[in-house]
Amino acid sequence: MSDVTGEDRRSGTSLPARLWEARWYLLAGLAAVLVAYGFGPGRAWALPLAVLLLFAALFSAKPRAVRIAEKAGEVDAAGLQRLSGEYLAAAVADPLIIFDRNTTVVHANAAAFVAFGGMSPGLSLPLKFRAPEMQALLDSVVSGRVASDALDYLEKLPVERVYRVSASSVGHGTELFVLVFKDQSEARRIDRMRADFIANASHELRTPLASISGFIETLRGPARNDAAAREQFLQIMQNQTSRMARLIDDLLSLSRLEMKPYLKSGARVDLRQTLESVIDSLSPLARDSNLVVERDFAEGPLDVPGDRDELFQVFENLLENACKYGQAGGRVAVSVARSQAGPEPTVDVTIRDFGPGIAEEHIPRITERFYRVDVETSRAQKGTGLGLSIVKHILTRHHARMSIRSELGNGAAFTVHLPAN
Ligand code: ADP
Repeated sequence: MSDVTGEDRRSGTSLPARLWEARWYLLAGLAAVLVAYGFGPGRAWALPLAVLLLFAALFSAKPRAVRIAEKAGEVDAAGLQRLSGEYLAAAVADPLIIFDRNTTVVHANAAAFVAFGGMSPGLSLPLKFRAPEMQALLDSVVSGRVASDALDYLEKLPVERVYRVSASSVGHGTELFVLVFKDQSEARRIDRMRADFIANASHELRTPLASISGFIETLRGPARNDAAAREQFLQIMQNQTSRMARLIDDLLSLSRLEMKPYLKSGARVDLRQTLESVIDSLSPLARDSNLVVERDFAEGPLDVPGDRDELFQVFENLLENACKYGQAGGRVAVSVARSQAGPEPTVDVTIRDFGPGIAEEHIPRITERFYRVDVETSRAQKGTGLGLSIVKHILTRHHARMSIRSELGNGAAFTVHLPAN
């Protein structure tokens, strides 16, 4: 059994709907039947007429949906006829240039003006875009050899940009052609970053792997019967596998952060409690580094919106770095203060060490993946070069920011500014 819904009736596709559409034919047929039987055999012509009308109702009535679509088609076609090329070009967000058979500009949209400067009608395109591949592209469509063609085009000034340029003829017999520039610079930049990242990660993994493989060879060969050397080499191999494991953990951390779409809203993190746990968990490292961890927490509740595990990871990374790289200073200060300095109130957590500090030129790049001020020191400290980029990622998800103040010889202070609400 099928049910006719209001939607079916409106769309006019089912049998009852079609009968409804043809109601006037049917009424006329009914009237003809009544006339035939009401007024006697003299009206015998009415019966065939009724049958004819019934057939007409069933097979000729056009569904309403079809009629509406046809009407819309007529309106669209009329609208399209009135639509000018200029309006259409203005509605396109990418640079678009309409040109004629002589490859001179007929019209350029606003995006083309912004991207390429002067683009007045009459300008010769081969003079504007001198690259030979652009000339070839223009020639191929103007000559009619192909209806459309595309290429990658590099624009060096005012800033370097890569475009996918497509050229095609417009309509039939208009003698007009169009060039559309799709900016690919951002996609290329992301591709390059991804390739660099994979190259860096592979290099970081390959170094300990090469070392392990070298020691295995030595152990099977010259050091086969040397118990002392075997012990020493196995220790090195174990260190190298730990290094690889740390790197893989950090890589997974980064990729998990990238996969997580957004933070759960509503959760709040008690910073006082979180920082105390971080300090506790790193107390063996602080003790081994002969460091005293000092606290200076503002009075009252210190909670902010966020994810407790992620903020724990932020402070753990910063405090670990302070202990590793600022060991010489003998102490690390962890402070929490409320701030009204920015447009929104924040709670600022500062982790400050009194070690050698960071030279100014490194500070802007220090949160980049695999960036280290000194690779050997980082490796000696079991660093992966990913800690601060994980920190940055988490803070972005928290709409927070980090400021770094440092002077060579005077330690470094990393301040995390977390929105209070
Ligand atoms: P790593 O795993 O090498 O520690 P990070 O991303 O955590 O990687 O830090 C990047 C680099 O920043 C480190 O290699 C180190 O050179 C520098 N750095 C980080 N914190 C400090 C600090 N408190 N003092 C001096 N240098 C630091």
